[in-house]
Amino acid sequence: ELQTLHIFSVASGHLYEKLLGIMILSVRNQTKNPLHFWFIDNFLSPKFKAFVPLLAERYNFNFDFVTYKWPSWLNPQSEKQRLIWAYKVLFLDVLFPQDVPKVIFIDADQVVRADVRELWDLDLKGKPYAFVPMGDTNPETEGFRFWKQGYWKNHLGNMPYHISALYVVDLVEFRRTGIGESLRGVYNQLSRDPNSLSNLEQDLINFAQHQVPIYSLPAEWLWCETWCSQETKSAAKTIDLCQNPLTKEPKIVMAKRIMPEWQRYHDEVQRFQDELDGAPEAAASASAKLAAP
Ligand code: UDP
Ligand code: CA
Repeated sequence: ELQTLHIFSVASGHLYEKLLGIMILSVRNQTKNPLHFWFIDNFLSPKFKAFVPLLAERYNFNFDFVTYKWPSWLNPQSEKQRLIWAYKVLFLDVLFPQDVPKVIFIDADQVVRADVRELWDLDLKGKPYAFVPMGDTNPETEGFRFWKQGYWKNHLGNMPYHISALYVVDLVEFRRTGIGESLRGVYNQLSRDPNSLSNLEQDLINFAQHQVPIYSLPAEWLWCETWCSQETKSAAKTIDLCQNPLTKEPKIVMAKRIMPEWQRYHDEVQRFQDELDGAPEAAASASAKLAAP
């Protein structure tokens, strides 16, 4: 039986808006279930906001732009990147209408290779949300695994440090147990120290695990080249273009190199955009079609 799946994402800037279009197409391509995308309003350009309804019509999904006013009592974030990160987890209880039971967050720079319905149906065993533990199979980046040393190692004990590029939130459980309040409380404590929360929302949810437990998702739900081995790539259900601290390779270069399907998704979005913009090539191919007998 088909069921509407709710997907949430955020993008700011031309590059991430372009990547977001590709992520949407990849999700759409792998599931027959109705899709409802939720986007954080604050950061999108007017041009992209005008493009989304047309993309939605062409690719058959619903969407809404959502936002929440930053509360005066919550420590502010002045840097845009950090503000975006904060919006990923701090307002999950108040961003969506009450009748949305669950939401899956997917980073804009991710490509999905499996049916997200599988993720939607997973039993989170009473935990309010689920994240994938950071990849541990690429030996080249071992020195960058800060969570396996010092402060984090001691704080986490046996609990894994999770990546925040993809997660499932059981909104019913999340609202029922007041997790939004708990997270905002922990955030307000930690953000008083400018040196803490350097990976804002990711550090926050991992730090808070003693109060707010995380269901750990199977590794195949988040593959990224930085942390995961090449041998595990073929089983990947999503691929994230997370930055490699060793190479600092630009996302588009990495995308073309590691995902054979990426260019096709990219070109499909680009062609549609060009058609709408009335670009010369699109107009030419349209008139060629008209001229054909
Ligand atoms: N993001 C964005 N604009 C930016 C930086 C980040 O929209 O300039 C959003 C976007 O959804 C992105 C997410 O924040 O997927 C996380 O950032 P990013 O994917 O760049 O982190 P990385 O994967 O490199 O760790
Ligand atoms: Ca990412």
